[in-house]
Amino acid sequence: MRTRHTSGTFIRAACFLTLAGLLPGYAFLPTADAQSCGSQGVTVQVLGSGGPELQDKRASSSYLVWENGQARVLIDAGGGSALRFGESGAQMSQLELILFSHFHVDHSGDFAALIKSSWFEDRKRPLPIYGPPGNDFMPSTVEFVTDLFGEKRGAYRYLSELLAPGEEGSYKMQPHDVAASSTPVAVFRSGGLSASAVRVIHDGVPALAWRVETGGKVIVFSGDTNGEGEGLVRLAMNADLFIAHNAVPEGAEGVERQLHMPPSVIGQIASEAKVKRLVLSHRMMRTLGKEEQTQAEIKKRYSGPVTFANDLDCFPVK
Ligand SMILES: [Zn+2]
Repeated sequence: MRTRHTSGTFIRAACFLTLAGLLPGYAFLPTADAQSCGSQGVTVQVLGSGGPELQDKRASSSYLVWENGQARVLIDAGGGSALRFGESGAQMSQLELILFSHFHVDHSGDFAALIKSSWFEDRKRPLPIYGPPGNDFMPSTVEFVTDLFGEKRGAYRYLSELLAPGEEGSYKMQPHDVAASSTPVAVFRSGGLSASAVRVIHDGVPALAWRVETGGKVIVFSGDTNGEGEGLVRLAMNADLFIAHNAVPEGAEGVERQLHMPPSVIGQIASEAKVKRLVLSHRMMRTLGKEEQTQAEIKKRYSGPVTFANDLDCFPVK
């Protein structure tokens, strides 16, 4: 049986707690419905709170935004997140859109598994997918989806009817490259749900941070970034919930620091952006066990509530 991490003050897999969570060593898997969070209002569920290392015993980066019991937005799909998606009780057919921060494996590795699962659901409307443009080292969002599902050369070309315009019989994925800058750009707006992005610096990897607004609530996802530039502060301004990636400890140097922001930078950004609540995710072997130090660095700069995420945690957005 999988070890469940104990959560802080937040509701983890809210309804599910009522029975199974109180019984250590419970001998059954709860039904999907029993686990879904956010039956009322807006809730963010952490599908993956880890980084790329499997030894952290966490799924890699992935988040779901729920509204009134519907899973509306999926942000990233790192390894392990497809299983967590199933455990969350969400349906692929509920999603309004998928957002990618970038295409490192720990943010995209389970995408194909999620799409394959959707095959068995009844979905008619298109599925918009937004993410960064490419460069010499990384595919663009359109390339990434096409490399997997393209009719001619896609690794999973047997599923190309989910992408190829001419083929009938299924819904279509609609991938888009987002040319973002340090000024937030709105890329999606429909039915009271909107998504906007800024470019963030993640060493040489094209990467985006995302702001999702729905039900009058604002959630911002830093994705992976070293925190350089003004974009993330602008994007996160006055957010109700800011999910930042705690991938390196204070004092990190070299490549680690070129890729990721240490706690002091997270605290600075949270403070400047006046976010109401901070959640730390993308926890790695090098930051796990250093929570006290991390919290202390953040508290020097940011006075709001700070919580460390675990897989399947639900954060109601107040
Ligand atoms: Zn990552």
